[in-house]
Amino acid sequence: MKFAKHISELVGGTPLVQLTTVTAGLTATILAKVEYMNPGGSVKDRIALKMIEAAEASGELLPGGTIVEPTSGNTGVGLALVAQRKGYRCVFVCPDKVSQDKRDVLRAYGAEVVVTPTAVAPDHPSSYYSVSGRLAREIPGGWKPNQYANVNGPASHYETTGPEIWADTDGRVTHLVTGVGTGGTITGTGRYLHDVSEGRVVVIGADPAGSVYSGGDGRPYLVEGVGEDFWPTAYDPTVPDEIIAVSDADSFAMTRRLAREEGLLVGGSCGMAVEATLRYARRLQEEDPEAAAAAVIVVILPDSGRGYLSKIFNDKWMRSYGFLGADEGATVADVLR
Ligand code: PMP
Repeated sequence: MKFAKHISELVGGTPLVQLTTVTAGLTATILAKVEYMNPGGSVKDRIALKMIEAAEASGELLPGGTIVEPTSGNTGVGLALVAQRKGYRCVFVCPDKVSQDKRDVLRAYGAEVVVTPTAVAPDHPSSYYSVSGRLAREIPGGWKPNQYANVNGPASHYETTGPEIWADTDGRVTHLVTGVGTGGTITGTGRYLHDVSEGRVVVIGADPAGSVYSGGDGRPYLVEGVGEDFWPTAYDPTVPDEIIAVSDADSFAMTRRLAREEGLLVGGSCGMAVEATLRYARRLQEEDPEAAAAAVIVVILPDSGRGYLSKIFNDKWMRSYGFLGADEGATVADVLR
């Protein structure tokens, strides 16, 4: 009989699938790594597992301890499912702008959620950062993974995501494209692929226009999970060979196309990464058709579209930001009237 002893044992080992429709006209082989196939539904399960196991090994997290992290989404789910298996308490701190649905998901996994006001400065005592710091210090046995600075985030990708891509492409991968949030995915996966290919694999970061990674000043954007207004230490800026900035409008348009045309219901950072991939592939094809035809480009899709049904996949929300033309989203009845 083949079975896991707990769902957390099934983290990683996600498949590659070729993109065949949104890639029309391109000669490169473009493969998507589908991270929503992880048990918690995102790439963040990988870092959760590694950060917890490393903290156990170093003695920072002791039996019966409490994991405290400021997170509203994917990292929280990953931490909660690993914590549940190992008997830790989880306390997540979320700003009040985080949707009720997201808080409910974390609570469904058995985590406690503390909600803080969004409209206060980071150094204010009731800010998301201050509250999580205090809880981690004052709860006995408290431990804060701090995904933005934890070296085990990138290490998890160096040990799992990178080797999986190398093995599944039989070492033929030529390019990696991934969004940058904490920077853990690109730093760990990109570094592994650089090392194993002796520098042959080209690493491309995708970033929301406005974020610091692509030279922005941190101005707001709507795509979630990627881009920053500061430089996290989990990110090694020497790893990417290039960063491509993508607007919200283009990220969301591609996200919707992935669901409709490729059967991939994925999140906005996935549309962003695929849009950057297609731009890169188009440029390569113009500049060096031979290299383009031989290219095997792997793009990482971090999470599922289920968490964005009321945003990216909601025509009214999309129209309210000007991302959909007035004539799109008509019903069959509208058309036949
Ligand atoms: N997309 C989504 C939806 C995410 O939650 C994250 C993680 N913040 C990323 C992309 C980027 O991953 P990383 O933090 O490893 O840069």
